[in-house]
Amino acid sequence: MKIVADTHTHTLASAHAYSTVAELAEAAAKKHLELLAVTDHAPVLPDSPHKLHFMNYHVLPKEMYGVELLYGAELSILDQNGHVDLEEEILKRQDICIASYHTMCTPAGTMEENTQAYLSVMENPYVNVIGHPDDGYVPVDFERLVKRAKEKKVLLEVNNSSLKAAFYRLNTRENIRKMLDLCKRYEVPVSLGSDAHYSGAVGGFEEAKEVLREAEFPQELIANLDAKRLKELLALRRRN
Ligand SMILES: [Zn+2]
Ligand SMILES: [Zn+2]
Repeated sequence: MKIVADTHTHTLASAHAYSTVAELAEAAAKKHLELLAVTDHAPVLPDSPHKLHFMNYHVLPKEMYGVELLYGAELSILDQNGHVDLEEEILKRQDICIASYHTMCTPAGTMEENTQAYLSVMENPYVNVIGHPDDGYVPVDFERLVKRAKEKKVLLEVNNSSLKAAFYRLNTRENIRKMLDLCKRYEVPVSLGSDAHYSGAVGGFEEAKEVLREAEFPQELIANLDAKRLKELLALRRRN
């Protein structure tokens, strides 16, 4: 399994991350990635950049060290009605948007409430990926999540950081397995994100690969094995 893209990374603009865009790109090149998405935290999560950060991405190169770069945001899901922490005018200028549930921004609700929050955020046409829906502290009905993702052409993320010593998330491995089994059954593609907060973690997918192997997950449902197809899947979302 040759992974050519990492769809979830943070620069030091998110103050609890520690590398620059150039350092992330160089690390991606060393890992032989073709495509790297820089997805800093949108403003509501504590110590995230101001919205100007996301408005000014156009000054950055589209390629560095031979790696194609996508610039976007990891949004926080703010409620059950589909609200996120950047406005449409800014969202439409992003190459990729991940929407994630962060309990620091939005306290976890019941399974029904959390599921509703995920289903609603998928109505936003700029949301390409649901980030780390694997946290047992935010229980979700995976069957409904996976079916809606298929309908809306949103990618579900296998987050490698969740699988590595993620003490602040619960039962991630079991939950990712549950999600993968359903994605396999309903033929829903997943995206792999390192969720790197440091250049050394870019393109690190060992734990994710292990779970994918265990689940005997079909390669054709892994979006990160072909950069062109990944970009097509991202573009497809904007039309649904
Ligand atoms: Zn972070
Ligand atoms: Zn996150």
